[in-house]
Amino acid sequence: MKIPETVVVGPFIYKVSLVDIVNREKPDLIGEAVHCSDKEIRLQKDLDQDKLESVFIHELLHCMDVFMRLGLSEEQVERLEGAVYMVLKQNNLLREG
Ligand SMILES: [Zn+2]
Repeated sequence: MKIPETVVVGPFIYKVSLVDIVNREKPDLIGEAVHCSDKEIRLQKDLDQDKLESVFIHELLHCMDVFMRLGLSEEQVERLEGAVYMVLKQNNLLREG
């Protein structure tokens, strides 16, 4: 999957940033979605491609959860990340372009 520079979720546009440190206050985070007025998905840039794609899907799920008010827990987002990533990978839908 080519990680896009921006991603549209319903009426919102999230900027996608590859950064050295996702959140200085939470050094363990490798991805984060910011849902305030400046919407942004921040991904740690030194992840390998598989992990980067998986974390991007995870953060997208958080964005969908916020917009659609799905009420997903962190655990549910993690499990959905695994399921969505598996099926996209199995069907070769993550290839470039
Ligand atoms: Zn999460």
